[in-house]
Amino acid sequence: MDSAVAMARMAVQRALIFLGPPGAGKGTQARRIAERYGIPHLSTGDMFRDHVRRDTELGRRARPIMERGELVPDEIVLGMIEERIARPDCRQGFVLDGFPRTLAQAEALDRLLEAHGFGRPLVLHLVADEAQLLRRLAGRRTCKLCGAVYNMYDHPPKVPGRCDDDGGELVERPDDREDVVRQRLTSYHHQTRPLVEYYRARGVLVDVDGTADIEAVSHQVFALVDRIAVP
Ligand code: ADP
Ligand code: ADP
Repeated sequence: MDSAVAMARMAVQRALIFLGPPGAGKGTQARRIAERYGIPHLSTGDMFRDHVRRDTELGRRARPIMERGELVPDEIVLGMIEERIARPDCRQGFVLDGFPRTLAQAEALDRLLEAHGFGRPLVLHLVADEAQLLRRLAGRRTCKLCGAVYNMYDHPPKVPGRCDDDGGELVERPDDREDVVRQRLTSYHHQTRPLVEYYRARGVLVDVDGTADIEAVSHQVFALVDRIAVP
């Protein structure tokens, strides 16, 4: 089932959740799967960065918290995601990247999915080791125009410092500094990691080997999602 035409007739009609520590490859894989199925990619990190850029009230609240590598309070995240999931483009399913990140968020998501008539989510748990995460985050660069993600070591652009797609400038995220990364990993272990057991116990989680290269990880992810897609 690899042809683009065949894929166009397949529908996910589920919430796909990418779970894993910072640098595991959630954003990279979420973008690819969203494109494959023509469903929206909902990244709470991207939404917050957009608010910060536009200097909205929400952005002003989130910014110092993000700069410290801590989690933004649940009620702020939930208000934002609730509004996004209610939009019509999410009716055929959607990909969540960076949400949920706490047990309270996961429980609220369960209620939201039920309210919108979705069944159980599929949770793709990206597993990578810490040395790899540190290297990936240190090398991460993002296009200022389209948000495409590159890596100086493992996934460099064709022209240094420029996006392959639109030539946009590639920039470093301020929270990818090493001291902030340490705090983000700590936040992950304390607040987000328990979600692995939460979803595993409900039989909706699959472990994906995130240590492989980007194409090989996509190969695993596509195979898992193709299996649950409906014609
Ligand atoms: P990464 O991709 O490296 O895991 P994100 O882009 O998802 O990082 O998130 C960046 C920052 O935005 C987080 O460190 C946190 O401060 C905030 N954030 C994003 N999503 C959430 C969430 N679901 N709950 C709380 N804070 C969040
Ligand atoms: P997350 O959203 O989980 O924080 P990203 O998708 O932003 O992770 O990836 C973090 C960095 O690692 C980026 O620079 C990205 O290009 C790179 N990357 C992602 N997946 C892989 C992989 N499988 N192998 C090597 N580098 C990767």
